[in-house]
Amino acid sequence: MKPPSFEYAAPKTVDEAVSLLKQHEGEAKILAGGQSLMPLLNMRLARPGLLVDVARVDGLDGIREVDGCLAIGAMTRQRSVEHSELVKRHFPLVHAAILHIAHPQNRNQGTVGGSLAHADPAAELPAIALALDAELRAVGPGGERRIKAADFFVTYLTTALEPTEVLTEVRFPALPPRTGWSLIELARRHGDFALTGVVARLAADTGGRCSAAQIVLFGVGATPVRARRTEELLVGEKCSAPLFERAGKTASEEIEEPLSDVHASAEYRRDLARVLTRRALAEAASRAAG
Ligand code: FAD
Repeated sequence: MKPPSFEYAAPKTVDEAVSLLKQHEGEAKILAGGQSLMPLLNMRLARPGLLVDVARVDGLDGIREVDGCLAIGAMTRQRSVEHSELVKRHFPLVHAAILHIAHPQNRNQGTVGGSLAHADPAAELPAIALALDAELRAVGPGGERRIKAADFFVTYLTTALEPTEVLTEVRFPALPPRTGWSLIELARRHGDFALTGVVARLAADTGGRCSAAQIVLFGVGATPVRARRTEELLVGEKCSAPLFERAGKTASEEIEEPLSDVHASAEYRRDLARVLTRRALAEAASRAAG
């Protein structure tokens, strides 16, 4: 398998990248780490006429804390996030998500922006972006746009990004105090995409009552899914195993059209969502209490 022929450009600035995308609108694709785009080209599932390689664009990578958020540049390699002390210490859910992505070799090349822009529904970073109410920043011919994660993932491998926009940064807010988190998934092998996964965050008051919850299921449909009915069921209730059992059942019922493919049936994914939600809530609750 080899890619169709394509032109190649390596701009040095975001503006230069945007003008190349504009000139070749609909024909050009951004190339970041190539870990998803190149397999698509090799399998002839994508045939862009021009690849705009943003690896040399100044200022597109970097990890910093800004206004209580973790700001990560789109071209930041996943491996850099994995090794960041700031992320490990203050944003453990982001760190946990990165460790689930593929293998070290892929993370050396794969970027945070690429994973978000690729928008694979089984990917971990889109799921935590939704669970943390992340903000994604993009630059296009009309200037900078800020997009909430809830509006960013549109459908399978499709985001709200315009073809002439470059994703430049993602900002993950820090978890509020007394909030626990969990990311649990089942994949056939470590490093494979999740058959089903759950991201849960849960805040509990000193009496062990749930005061806020956010649950995202991934690998179950065309995008990561917020289990809003389940979140409402939890708030105000005392955290307990029977409550989390009920929550798992409700979450599994919130998946409208579960994916069925060679790896897992829709029924299996639905039942996985039930079990993993129950486990993730128990883990998040113990972290919230701890
Ligand atoms: P690329 O492949 O270069 O680009 C991906 C897409 O995003 C393209 O459409 C590209 O045009 C677009 N894009 C990239 N950067 C930008 C930007 N700044 N602005 C606008 N558009 C942009 N991922 C997971 O999440 N979980 C897994 O378990 C997992 N397992 C994998 C296993 C293998 C063997 C491989 C090869 C990949 C796996 N991946 C997994 C996906 C991969 O690791 C990357 O995380 C990701 O999908 C692509 O990152 P990238 O930087 O290589 O982007």
